[in-house]
Amino acid sequence: TDFKSDKQPTWCPGCGDFGTMNGMMKALAETGNSPDDTFVVAGIGCSGKIGTYMHAYALHGVHGRALPVGTGVKLANPDLEVMVAGGDGDGYSIGAGHFVHAVRRNVDMTYVVMDNRIYGLTKGQASPTSREDFETSTTPDGPQQPPVNPLALAFASGASFIAQSFSSDALRHQEIVQKAIEHDGFGFVNVFSPCVTFNDVDTYDYFRDSLVDLQDEGHDPTDRDAAKQKILEADKEYMGVLWQDETASSYEDTHDVDTNMSEIPDGAPEDGMDLVREFY
Ligand code: SF4
Repeated sequence: TDFKSDKQPTWCPGCGDFGTMNGMMKALAETGNSPDDTFVVAGIGCSGKIGTYMHAYALHGVHGRALPVGTGVKLANPDLEVMVAGGDGDGYSIGAGHFVHAVRRNVDMTYVVMDNRIYGLTKGQASPTSREDFETSTTPDGPQQPPVNPLALAFASGASFIAQSFSSDALRHQEIVQKAIEHDGFGFVNVFSPCVTFNDVDTYDYFRDSLVDLQDEGHDPTDRDAAKQKILEADKEYMGVLWQDETASSYEDTHDVDTNMSEIPDGAPEDGMDLVREFY
């Protein structure tokens, strides 16, 4: 697609992030976006490289802080399609506080978490979504604490859109990300994106065997009670849109966000620099 940059990804051959990114690029194109109206904000980790591999405006953010940056971008220029991406460590550990508040703020943007249930870039430590008994170099007996349920965390934080997909199921993954983009509010998609180098438990085969597509179950994502029940079933691996509140208003719909950067008065940046100098 137009969204593919000319940079060659350095992800390991077979990494789930390839499929995750391809689906995101296709979903952006399919929803009528172009690289010059799209801004990708990435966190830190293997997944964080995505902004380099996509052809769009992009910013490789600070660890765990991609969401506040994305929020700022969207509120500064609401015409942009803002896509924030990161990993499970980035989003649910160091970035967990930002996740909760971005969810409840409900700014109209999309957040894709490439969840491989391990820290890949730093060579295989347990992450917030790692299984309790997953043996790694830093947790030889496993983390010995239950994993974070990102869907439940989002639901409890007041999310208006919660979905889960699998990088290897190209068509469904693209469809699900598309729905998140089209949602008027904060579209959250947790994507199973296997790390073929450091996670030999949450593999492609595991997800292929265990994933249940909510579409096949006739799940109605606008039914709050049904959504809650699915989200709390931590022992099941669901794919699809779990919850969508079509009545929720995005932050932009209910607040004055007329903050286009072009309207910042002359001299403001210099005033800002004065403040910085004063502070230091
Ligand atoms: Fe992908 Fe894992 Fe390799 Fe990172 S270490 S690029 S997550 S396979």
